[in-house]
Amino acid sequence: MAFLKSIEDLVKSFTGEKSIKSETVLKDGKFAKDVVPSFMDGAEISTKTITDAVRKATKFFGLPEIPIKAGPAVAVAPGNPMTFKDDVFIYNKAQLKREGLTTSVDISKCYAHECGHRISQRFFNGNGSWANELCSDFFTGAFCEMNKLKAGNFEKFLGRQRASLSHPGGKLRMQALEYGRRCVAEMKAKGITPTWEKLMDKFKETNAQNLSFGNYRSAQMRGTVLGLAQSSSWYVKDAARQQEKYQAAMKRVGNYMDKKDYKSAAAAQRTADLHKRDMEYSARAAKIAQRSEKKK
Ligand SMILES: [Zn+2]
Repeated sequence: MAFLKSIEDLVKSFTGEKSIKSETVLKDGKFAKDVVPSFMDGAEISTKTITDAVRKATKFFGLPEIPIKAGPAVAVAPGNPMTFKDDVFIYNKAQLKREGLTTSVDISKCYAHECGHRISQRFFNGNGSWANELCSDFFTGAFCEMNKLKAGNFEKFLGRQRASLSHPGGKLRMQALEYGRRCVAEMKAKGITPTWEKLMDKFKETNAQNLSFGNYRSAQMRGTVLGLAQSSSWYVKDAARQQEKYQAAMKRVGNYMDKKDYKSAAAAQRTADLHKRDMEYSARAAKIAQRSEKKK
């Protein structure tokens, strides 16, 4: 088969036309979307790409297959927490597109997270608790490590989430994902087969299972989030990083004010405030870590 330089070449080779839709019937009688499901990336996500990604994640965790339906968001409706069999997966193409999650790899990571909810539903089902989200991110990390998946748009998406009553912020969620990766890597290095029961035990060793919107700040200050107390030098570097980001955001505030774009200025100010807050956290955490390092 000839090497095709671009989608345009591909389209022309099939139809002689300049544009093609997923429903276009090609010369051999097949639908375009079935021949190259991913060629519509950025334009359209085929249902097949989604169902394949869902199946991949489900199979990986050894969970029973369940129905998948179009709905308001990418999610899982867990039903009775004591059984996996009544869970229902939900997908939303517009959301996936909006968040830049259009490849089969990124979509499989989304559903690894939803599988995490299926596993954790019987353990962490409380309202206002962040544990079920962090546990699901942790299992996503395990999925990525086992399948040797590199970080991509999914991680960017996760990292930019804002903390809310129901969901932790992106920084913490990425920590949970990285911790999942690390646990799998460590088990493999020791010749242990990672199962989700063993992984759940690792997750429960951390204090993430007790975290909520309400108590996160104090846990972070103690440097005990996910049991990942950082060294003082890590916090010093993080404080410097946050300071740079804070200054860059404040510069943007000034520029927007000059242009009388007050809406953008306010948004940049909010970003600046968050970096200032993180800078202060890390500066204080550095001092606490330094003290405990001296004792050792
Ligand atoms: Zn979730």
